[in-house]
Amino acid sequence: MLQDQDRIFTNIYGMHDRTLKGAQARGHWDGTGDIVKKGRSWIVDEMKASGLRGRGGAGFPTGLKWSFMPKESDGRPAYLVVNADESEPGTCKDREIMRHDPHTLIEGCLIASFAMNAHACYIYIRGEYIREKEALQAAIDEAYDAGLVGRNASGSGWDFDIYLTHGAGAYICGEETALLESLEGKKGMPRMKPPFPAGAGLYGCPTTVNNVESIAVVPTILRRGGAWFAGMGRPNNAGTKLFAISGHVNHPCVVEEEMSISFEELIEKHCGGIRGGWDNLQAVIPGGSSVPCVRGEHMKEAIMDFDYLRNELGSGLGTAAVIVMDNSVDMIKGIWRLAKFYKHESCGQCTPCREGTGWMMRVMERLVTGDAEPEEIDMLWDVTKQVEGHTICALGDAAAWPIQGLIKNFRPEIEERIAHKRSTPVAAQ
Ligand code: SF4
Repeated sequence: MLQDQDRIFTNIYGMHDRTLKGAQARGHWDGTGDIVKKGRSWIVDEMKASGLRGRGGAGFPTGLKWSFMPKESDGRPAYLVVNADESEPGTCKDREIMRHDPHTLIEGCLIASFAMNAHACYIYIRGEYIREKEALQAAIDEAYDAGLVGRNASGSGWDFDIYLTHGAGAYICGEETALLESLEGKKGMPRMKPPFPAGAGLYGCPTTVNNVESIAVVPTILRRGGAWFAGMGRPNNAGTKLFAISGHVNHPCVVEEEMSISFEELIEKHCGGIRGGWDNLQAVIPGGSSVPCVRGEHMKEAIMDFDYLRNELGSGLGTAAVIVMDNSVDMIKGIWRLAKFYKHESCGQCTPCREGTGWMMRVMERLVTGDAEPEEIDMLWDVTKQVEGHTICALGDAAAWPIQGLIKNFRPEIEERIAHKRSTPVAAQ
């Protein structure tokens, strides 16, 4: 359980002053110039020691990612790009950082950019996040006025500029290379990899794309030491994490907790329990809409971290957007709705995704009403396997996994619906 003194985000609910004055009173922007002066390798080593894994869903070690950036410039500039295009259904944690605790992010941008030899950082914010953009821009302006960013940022000797770019509301622009295309003013379509952004990213220059939360935790980690952060959670699943719990709990919320907290403790302590009690829990999507759902009875004992959810439950922590569904939910319809979302958001440039997402959605549509042949369940499974891993970007996987989760966990319910439809006389339907 996370102690108050170990909390990184101290204004996540907007109860306090979010301006620079308030942020400084809560310990942010404290000795930032001195951290920068400790040098690149010290920062990267400390980030590696912290065990921080990317908070945008994939969970790739952040320090290691930074170390892929060229140590010496070949004449091209380097860039840090912050992915603030939080668009996955269920995920709503970065917006709390940006609208209530924006200085954590801006300070993190300076330190992370310096560690990657970047004099400029771009934050790409989701089109729908109007108020978040305003709050973040106001904080950036304050930081410029106070000399914390800009020339000789925070007295560190490092010149640093930060730009906020507003997206136009396409989910696919949250994919890092589509985001770079969009930043360059083109259509948001994912690029083939390699080359990876660290070799050729924004404007063909070395670039690292990190999630908002991953960057916002950096200053506190460096002030308190990588070992402090690594001391929380289970090995390989270090630190604190923002969990965004929605759906059928008594009090949905975003909360910072220690990684590897049990699902039961998370729900009981912060959400007032499951609506109608634990026996009423039908299913949970533990990491944002793209990870497979898990049956409720398997979740009570679950440990909320990357390794447990993947290895023990065949799902994932993703962005830690926990969607709780009680027995009132039609699971087949719920997953159909997600299939519809992914079909709508496919950029259409590769065939398995463009055709597969529509195909899967249409079969799901018939499974909802029971108007399908029983063999189509296996056929649908096969199609998800033909989409998964055969596309340019991860949207294909994101569309396939929820359906795989449904078939794996709720097959009897799907079969029952088809059988019921067949046994019901047409006139009675
Ligand atoms: Fe576009 Fe889908 Fe291919 Fe990604 S997987 S590049 S969204 S068509």
